[in-house]
Amino acid sequence: MDKLLFHSTNGQAPRVDLKGALLGGQAPDRGLYMPDEFPGLDGAAIAAFRGQSYPEIAWRVLRAYARGVIDDDVLRALCADAYNYDVPLEKVHGRVSVMRLDRGPTASFKDFAARMMARLIGRLVREEGRELTILTATSGDTGSAVASAFHDVAGIRVLVLFPIDEVSERQRRQMTTLTGNIRTIAVAGKFDDCQAMVKRAFADPDLAGIPLSSANSINIGRLLPQSVYYFYAASRLAEPGEPIVITVPSGNFGNMMGAVFAWRMGLPVRRLVAPVNANDEFPRFLATGEYRKIEPSRACISNAMNVGHPSNLARLVAAYGGWLDETGILHRPPDLAAMRRDLFSTSVGDDATREAIRSAWREHRLLLEPHGAVAWRGLQDYETAVGLEGAPAVVLETAHPAKFPDEIERLLEITPEVPPTLAALDSLPEDYDRMAADYDALRGYLQKNYR
Ligand SMILES: *Cc1c(COP(=O)(O)O)cnc(C)c1O
Repeated sequence: MDKLLFHSTNGQAPRVDLKGALLGGQAPDRGLYMPDEFPGLDGAAIAAFRGQSYPEIAWRVLRAYARGVIDDDVLRALCADAYNYDVPLEKVHGRVSVMRLDRGPTASFKDFAARMMARLIGRLVREEGRELTILTATSGDTGSAVASAFHDVAGIRVLVLFPIDEVSERQRRQMTTLTGNIRTIAVAGKFDDCQAMVKRAFADPDLAGIPLSSANSINIGRLLPQSVYYFYAASRLAEPGEPIVITVPSGNFGNMMGAVFAWRMGLPVRRLVAPVNANDEFPRFLATGEYRKIEPSRACISNAMNVGHPSNLARLVAAYGGWLDETGILHRPPDLAAMRRDLFSTSVGDDATREAIRSAWREHRLLLEPHGAVAWRGLQDYETAVGLEGAPAVVLETAHPAKFPDEIERLLEITPEVPPTLAALDSLPEDYDRMAADYDALRGYLQKNYR
């Protein structure tokens, strides 16, 4: 069978196969890779997921994207190896459940994608005897998930930039306590500064000699694995063929794009709810059709969602027939009517987030951290505005509550139990560099250390 090809959202770059997209990260025209087609799964295949384990479902969802690039048997083994932890679904009330995506090694949903991507890229690089430097910006959880996933993968070095004042101590320790092939830089700036620096490095001809790849949510390898858990949730919560309401707390919109991919592949979805924090550029866009990024981004307690210009919006707009470039200019509007039919979004500020943490605990003994609380409140807003009407619904909890102990102790007067992977960090030494939010400094650092 033919390989599945990927094109750039900016339409000015050659099409590539999965290998080209994984190793390249961003397309050379600064667009993001999208599959030429969404490989469909028929109703019977999706219904059969009911009796299958998470790694089995992952293999069946991902295999069409990898055909001709990664052997089917190899992919199956990689899925089993990557997904060796629980994916709990917690029934809350009626047909509403929370899916906890926090049981991976760094206790955030980003482990799901990072672990798969690291295995795929490690495999491709090894086959060619090449070396690769993964350069990535993080607003909290990406960096640790990526660093953990690539730690000790031969042929690969990882450099992570993070905004010094916007990550929690635990998030920082998850990156800065790794040694060997992992380096971290604390940037005196915001996440958007880190992201802008990384994007410039990818486009900088002076760095052409350094084989750079991204592991941000702009890499298609970070996106495809994020469509798997929607199939998994529906297989456990919905009847075969019954559409489900999916709620995804959103920052860079990579996670919710995973749901869009799953939907396009055939998963029955009733509505995709994508709440954001005070960075409300997306709900405004949905309401008005006008896109205005927020600069600088607003700092909220759901810190991994402090994004004023979500990079994956370019993919979302493309999925609805429009063209948004990387700078935020809308060259061609998407089908807004269709977007409004499919998607629902609200902005949940810090007060409402804290209230959601309190009420979820008070009413349901449901323990949420700030990101999951934004989602929880977002589903309530959807219920108020539209209504669930008996449909099954899943809310994604994207991080472990123990990553945000201060907020939870203050609001609920309980201390979340710390998973062993996080507890071990407190006693390890940290090692990281510091840098101004200045692109020239990053260029110099790369030329000095990575040439
Ligand atoms: C990254 C992250 C998000 C936002 O996900 P996007 O794919 O960027 O929309 C939400 N919650 C947590 C805990 C995260 O780490």
